[in-house]
Amino acid sequence: MAHIERAQAAAAAAGIDALLISPGPDLRYLTGYDALPLERLTCLVLPAHGEPFMVVPLLEKPAAQASAVGTLGIELVAWQETEDPYLLLAGRLPAGLIRVAVDNHMWAEKVLAFQDALPGARQVLAGPVLSELRMRKTPEEAASLKAAGAAIDRVHHQMADWLRPGRTEREVGKDIADAIIQSGHSRADFVIVASGPNGASPHHEVSERVIEAGDPVVVDIGGTMPDGYCSDSTRTYSVGEPPAEFATYYDVLLRAQMAQTEAARPGITAAELDAVGRDIIAAAGYGEFFIHRTGHGIGLETHEEPYIVSSSSRVLEPGMAFSIEPGIYLPGKHGARIEDIVICTEDGSERVNQTPRELRVI
Ligand code: ZN
Ligand code: ZN
Repeated sequence: MAHIERAQAAAAAAGIDALLISPGPDLRYLTGYDALPLERLTCLVLPAHGEPFMVVPLLEKPAAQASAVGTLGIELVAWQETEDPYLLLAGRLPAGLIRVAVDNHMWAEKVLAFQDALPGARQVLAGPVLSELRMRKTPEEAASLKAAGAAIDRVHHQMADWLRPGRTEREVGKDIADAIIQSGHSRADFVIVASGPNGASPHHEVSERVIEAGDPVVVDIGGTMPDGYCSDSTRTYSVGEPPAEFATYYDVLLRAQMAQTEAARPGITAAELDAVGRDIIAAAGYGEFFIHRTGHGIGLETHEEPYIVSSSSRVLEPGMAFSIEPGIYLPGKHGARIEDIVICTEDGSERVNQTPRELRVI
């Protein structure tokens, strides 16, 4: 209930009369309910002032009641198949609403239906209000992220079992996806096995390319734990001895990533933290090959606020959790990325990923 009360206070402070939250990470954050996104409307309503309630299809009421929602004392308003749930919801709100906020991932068909049901109210996004809460993790959320980090670390530890010359990226990726589940995740969200020249493409997934001796291989993997919190960690491996050029810039990348994880602390801005790594990489002559931001926040979504990017003046605060993942990508040749999730503490930061960052030759 603490998250709901904070969200209501934040909505009031932002001049928003009510938050309308459909199934997704915001609903899970606020209530713990991992509702199925369906065409039938499920919507948590948080008036800035007043009692929260949740509109649910009658068919979904037992699932909602069995979820964490059942323990929060939130009134469940069930609607029948022939009712209009948007009008039902609007009828329970006070008249004369000026601004209502919809969650950032609400389906367009629902957003437009709310426009018709609440014609006098201007719609805005709930994201700015809710991300301010979600980006500052409670100790319980930090513990969840650490458990997710430990689980994905167990998968990286086993990499030598799968990464071998003669196997395709897809075969290796299948083994990794299975291991992500074995390690305690409820879902494998992404598996990147980028060998040789594919390593130069940061978001390559897997392909039929056969891994060869001497290939550097970027392995970026993550999943969602049963409590909804996500993991994300990248290590770059070398299958046999790597090319000399690769070994040279891997050392530069390692220095940059280590300097950034050391520098991550409350009081530094996202732009400054980005520069800590970018400056090291640029000074070594590889600046033009670091082609993306340093990192992204993580929690109930793999990518959320705060983004560690040179255009952001956001000052980092205790509880913020984000990735530090600089990379160097040489088109047509190979690439490398090292990624850890860190959580800001009161006076520094903690890495949730603990596998060695030095180049591992398999
Ligand atoms: Zn990643
Ligand atoms: Zn990442």
